[in-house]
Amino acid sequence: MSVIYNRVALIGLGLIAGSMAHAMRRAGLAGEIVGTARSAETRAIAQEIGLCDRITETAAEAVEGADLVVLCVPVGAMGAVAAEIAPHLAAGATVTDVGSVKRDVIEQVGPHLPEGVHFIPAHPLAGTEHSGPRSGFAELFDNRYTLLTPGEGTDPAATARLRALWEGCGANVEEMDADHHDLVLAVTSHTPHLIAYTMVGVADDLRRVTDSEVIKYSAAGFRDFTRIAASDPTMWRDVFLTNKDATLEILGRFTEELFALQRAIRRGDGDHLHAYFTRTRAIRRGIIEAGQDTDAPNFGRTPSKREVPGA
Ligand code: NAP
Repeated sequence: MSVIYNRVALIGLGLIAGSMAHAMRRAGLAGEIVGTARSAETRAIAQEIGLCDRITETAAEAVEGADLVVLCVPVGAMGAVAAEIAPHLAAGATVTDVGSVKRDVIEQVGPHLPEGVHFIPAHPLAGTEHSGPRSGFAELFDNRYTLLTPGEGTDPAATARLRALWEGCGANVEEMDADHHDLVLAVTSHTPHLIAYTMVGVADDLRRVTDSEVIKYSAAGFRDFTRIAASDPTMWRDVFLTNKDATLEILGRFTEELFALQRAIRRGDGDHLHAYFTRTRAIRRGIIEAGQDTDAPNFGRTPSKREVPGA
């Protein structure tokens, strides 16, 4: 594949930025990759492992002359980063992000960007529970979706170019309205994460079940919850604070269904439970048929670097 952007600036150097750097290099998509992170420690690690071609101390320096700037920081930090880089952006540059929530990022970032700069929000639906500059790997986006949420009036050529970059990183790319994105992700990722956090918290609170029993007997269900609930606390705090309405909407529905199942259990209504579980099993089959997971049994798998649906 050939170079799509001459200089890509990655702002924030964690799991997603690191994986983008590896994936862009794998396919030769960027002439130069410049990176920066808030802490000197992260910048030093990135330097040491050669994550980027060049590391700068500030975001303002990183974006100088870049034709693509990717904001890879927690959602709650996007606005401040946009304010810092705005005066230093090159004319005609594209600014994008990888945040897990789209409407809030658009509202935070959009107002700071000068005329002549393209703003195309994006969200790769791929991730792991690991974070930091050492956690990235080139295959993270392979055969996963990346959703672009360009606003009305966005230059189609700029969108097509960003699409080509994500496709070069291995992703399937689709465009979506930002509000719809936030609702879909509340169902597929945000609320499930909240449920996992809750379940692990409940097990931790249950003093009758000692810690060692919880760990020793953690069969697939609980083990999967613990993996999801090990995700980065800052990132997930920001997801819930910024995708508030959609998450509350889905949580409301979830609570109603949970109460219905609770009632079925109390009344011994096996038909209700069986019909419900039959319906949910079909959804799993659909995900496998769509190539978004395998039907290999979960037991005994190696958790390292295994992908989980992105946030
Ligand atoms: P990460 O590994 O925790 O890295 C976050 C980076 O952001 C670090 O370089 C960190 O700098 C920097 N940062 C944190 N707080 C900051 C602040 N207040 N101001 C400036 N920089 C700050 O995170 P990640 O998993 O790559 O996530 C990055 C973005 O991708 C988030 O918006 C997240 O919603 C989105 N996303 C994540 C996943 C996932 O599963 N992890 C999937 C899809 C999208 P220091 O290291 O110097 O602290």
